[in-house]
Order: sequence, then C-alpha cells, then structure tokens
Amino acid sequence: MAEGRPADDASVIRDIERFKRTVYDLLVIGGGINGAAIAHLAAKRGMKVALLEKGDFASGTSSKSTKLIHGGIRYLENLEFDLVYESLRERHIQLEVAPHLVKALPFVIPVYEGDKRPLWMMRLGVFLYDLLAGHYRIKPHRNLTREEVIKLEPGIEQKGLKGGVLYYDAQMDDARLCLENVLMAAQYGAHVANYVKVVSFVKENGRVAGVRAHDLHGIKEFEVRAKRVICAAGPWTNGLLRLDTPAAKKKVRTTKGIHIVYKGEISKHAVLMGSQSDRRIFFLIPWMGNSLIGTTDTDYIVSPDGVKVEQGDLEYLIRESKRIFPSLDLSPDKIIATFAALRPLIRKGGSASKVSRKHLFYEAPSGVIFVVGGKYTTYRKVAEDCMNRIHKVYEKETFKIYGSGTVQESAETAAARCGLAKEPVQFLMDLYGARYRDVLALAQKDPSLKERILNDPPVIKAQIVYSVETEMARTVEDITERRLSLVFRGSLPAEVPAMISKFLPRK
Ligand SMILES: Cc1cc2nc3c(=O)[nH]c(=O)nc-3n(C[C@H](O)[C@H](O)[C@H](O)COP(=O)(O)OP(=O)(O)OC[C@H]3O[C@@H](n4cnc5c(N)ncnc54)[C@H](O)[C@@H]3O)c2cc1C
Repeated sequence: MAEGRPADDASVIRDIERFKRTVYDLLVIGGGINGAAIAHLAAKRGMKVALLEKGDFASGTSSKSTKLIHGGIRYLENLEFDLVYESLRERHIQLEVAPHLVKALPFVIPVYEGDKRPLWMMRLGVFLYDLLAGHYRIKPHRNLTREEVIKLEPGIEQKGLKGGVLYYDAQMDDARLCLENVLMAAQYGAHVANYVKVVSFVKENGRVAGVRAHDLHGIKEFEVRAKRVICAAGPWTNGLLRLDTPAAKKKVRTTKGIHIVYKGEISKHAVLMGSQSDRRIFFLIPWMGNSLIGTTDTDYIVSPDGVKVEQGDLEYLIRESKRIFPSLDLSPDKIIATFAALRPLIRKGGSASKVSRKHLFYEAPSGVIFVVGGKYTTYRKVAEDCMNRIHKVYEKETFKIYGSGTVQESAETAAARCGLAKEPVQFLMDLYGARYRDVLALAQKDPSLKERILNDPPVIKAQIVYSVETEMARTVEDITERRLSLVFRGSLPAEVPAMISKFLPRK
C-alpha cells in the first residue's frame, strides 16, 4: 500500500496559490465530518488531495449535533440491527482512537405510567443493545426500580414513575473531532482550506475535471483541477447536485434539529425522554457544566444557509422536558445558547424520525460522487466505504486522529516543567489529547503566551495562537464556538472576543 507519510505537524498553510498549481487525484467539497474523514483517508492512502470548505471546518451540521457517538438505541424500533451493530463497532473505534474527545456516558431512561414505550419494551431494548454490542459493550446495562431511578436522578418527576433502565453510550466534541480529521488530512499532505466555496464544476467532454472556487476571504475566484471529485456537502448536497446536473432529482431529505444549552447540570446522567405529543425521543445531557437538550426532527426544504431556531422549537423542547424535569423553564437567563442544523438524510418518504441513518454514494453521469445520508458516529466507515470505491486497499488500515496517542505525564508534572498552574495544563490535555505538547511548546518559546485570557475554563494565549497557526481559525467564532466551545460554557466576558481578534490573520 502506498501510504502517505505524515509530517510531524499538520503544517497547515492557507495557501490558495498552491490550489491553482496542482492537479489533484481527489478534490473533496465540504469540510464537515464526512469530507474531512474522506480527505484524511485519501491522503493517507497516498493520493494528492484538496479539501475545500465554504465556511469554517465543521460549521455546517458537524458542530451542531447532539454530540453522541452512539449505536442509536431507537433504531432498534425500526429493526435496523445492521446499522446499530455497525454504529456500536464505530463507537468502540472512536473511544479507542480519540479518548480526549469521545467519552463513555451513562444514560437513564425513566418510564412513566401511560408512556408510549412501556417498561418491558425499554428493558428488552437495552438488553438487545448490549447483546448487539457484544465485545464492544462499554458496561452492562441495569434494570432500575422506581426508587433507583429517583436515587440516580433526584430532580426527576416522581409522579407516575414506574422504573427505568441504565445503559452506556458515548459523548463527543463534534467540532474538534472534525477538525482533527482535517488536520490529519493536512498532515498526510492534503491541501485544505476553509472559507473557499465551490461555485461551479469544470467539465471536459461531459466529465468533471475540477471546480471553480471562490476564496471568500481573499475575494477571488480560481480553478482547481482534479481527476476525481467527491461532494460531501451534507444538507447542501441537492444544490451541488443541481450545479452539476440542473435537472437532477434531489437525493437528500433535510430535516431540522435544534438544541438548547440550558444553564447548569440538571441531571447527573444523560436522560432519554419520550415526547407525549409525538412518538419522538430526545435527550437531556450534561455538557460542559450545563445541560444540552435536544433534538427536534422536522422537514425543512428551503436553503440550508437560513436554518435557525424558531420559538416553537424551543417551546416544544422545554414543554416536553418539563414533564420529566419540572424545574425547567424558558426564562432567557437559563438559555445559554441555542443552535439549529439539518440532517442530510437519504431521500425517502414517511415520518422524518423513521428515515434510516444509513449512507450511500451516488455517482452522477459527470463522475462526481455525492455522499448521501449517514450519521456522525459512522463517519470513519463512510470515508472507508467511499475510498474503497475509488482506491481500494487490501490490508487492515489503522485509524488515528490528530490528537491520538497517550498522554505520558500527569498535568502536575507538565505544569511544573513549563511554569504553569495545573488547571490550564489539564485543560490542554483534555482538549488536544497527545497534542497538548504542541501548545505548551508555543508557551515555552514565548512566555507571554502563558497568560490567561479566561479563568473558567482556563484558556491561555498560546491556545489562540495555536488555533490560528495550526488549526486555521480565521474568525473569533471559529475559536469561541468550534476550537474552544467557550460560548456554550456560560456568558463570555466582553473583552475576550477583542483579545482573540488581535491574534487573527488580516483578511
Ligand atoms: C440536530 C442533529 C443532531 C444530530 N445528532 C447526532 C448525534 O448525536 N450522533 C450522530 O452520530 N449523528 C448525529 N447527527 C447527524 C450528523 O451530525 C450528520 O450526519 C453529520 O454531521 C453530517 O456531516 P456532513 O459532513 O455530511 O455534513 P456537514 O457537517 O453539514 O458538512 C457539509 C459541509 O459542506 C460545506 N459546503 C456546502 N456547500 C459547499 C460549497 N459549495 N463549497 C464548499 N463547501 C461547501 C458546508 O459548509 C458544510 O460545512 C445529528 C444531526 C442533526 C442535524
């Protein structure tokens, strides 16, 4: 296998000129998780790869998910055993390769009198879930009495509570997992750029030979030549499909899902709840010291660029969650943030939540391959299946992301070595995995970068420099939303964005 050789670091240079000079083996449109992972695997297999993203990496769906790497217990209801099995296997791989970004999480399902899914059904569900996981199981599930549910979650509504179950899945940092795949692609030699939009396809004799792209920060248009083009544009897929073939039928069904970041940790476990008004299930999950509540699932047919949280979405989620957590309310001081995104599902009729989360590839007559469907959890498999279509390898392939590897020292030891307090060093280890050393190296080279810009979480200036120089952040939001997730932890002191902007590249 001609595997690309990784450089020591990603050496990410946002050099638009080199896109014009190179003829690529593969050009990937879309820097969400699927595009990032395809670019990663392709570069690793020795291909000359370009990755173009019109916003920031992960700024589409891939930073606005429920942040679960999960088998998808609810797909058992649809009898999708193969999808659940595949997802549980992928969950195991992600827990192994990205322990800093993917962590096991206990889930409680409380069951009430009159619930659409009775206790016996939930017990059977978690039993089957663990059976399918087999060797990949995180920890065995437990059936819970009413008293045990209350002991685990004292804030829960007790009236009508019959009992419940406890099972395990995993929680992730979706934006960083995507970014670490982009960085891995760059490390294997891919040319990657954010804020570059593909505006048309270049064709020769009806076959795709590249794209025309617009550098949104450099305000110029240029051509990129490639032997193969893969479009991993998530909810934007139908638009790109029509850019390729104006009369093409839509391949993707887009359904909207919103989340609320609610102040404080309402529960100690992730809690899976069934709605009363429809048969949907949704979650309340401890996240960054707060609670993530979501999600909804409603058809959405206008431009993906306009998707936003509506008051009705908020009211639905709070009303349904209040049934189980009566203390919740919609007062503005409780809502730290909200976000909305679209699922790019395989186009199929019927109820939105019943549409399968499987993936497929559609090859247009021009040769452009479109990625359709999938869920975050299975991104590595999506990339592997995609690559096997165009560049098969016959050996077992290892999979790692940018921060993979063991952290060899304690936070105390590293802190003492670098003249920092333990807390910021622990924060670096939690966020960057084995790459915390790269950030510390910046601070050691320039001690002024040890200075904090925030105490909770303890962010040092070196992280801002790292976000810009290695992780290609171009705007304040790239850093506060996706590199460091600061806006989801609480209100950000007014001076922080201004401090960050001093480190940003000039457009
Ligand atoms: C509300 C919600 C919750 C979810 N929760 C989970 C979960 O908990 N677990 C799970 O496994 N899955 C979950 N999913 C599904 C998962 O998030 C998606 O399947 C996955 O993120 C899709 O990734 P993607 O790369 O295909 O799309 P995206 O992340 O949307 O990436 C596509 C990218 O293409 C770019 N693009 C578009 N047009 C162009 C162009 N012309 N030029 C250049 N770039 C372009 C966009 O800017 C975008 O960044 C959830 C989905 C939603 C909506």
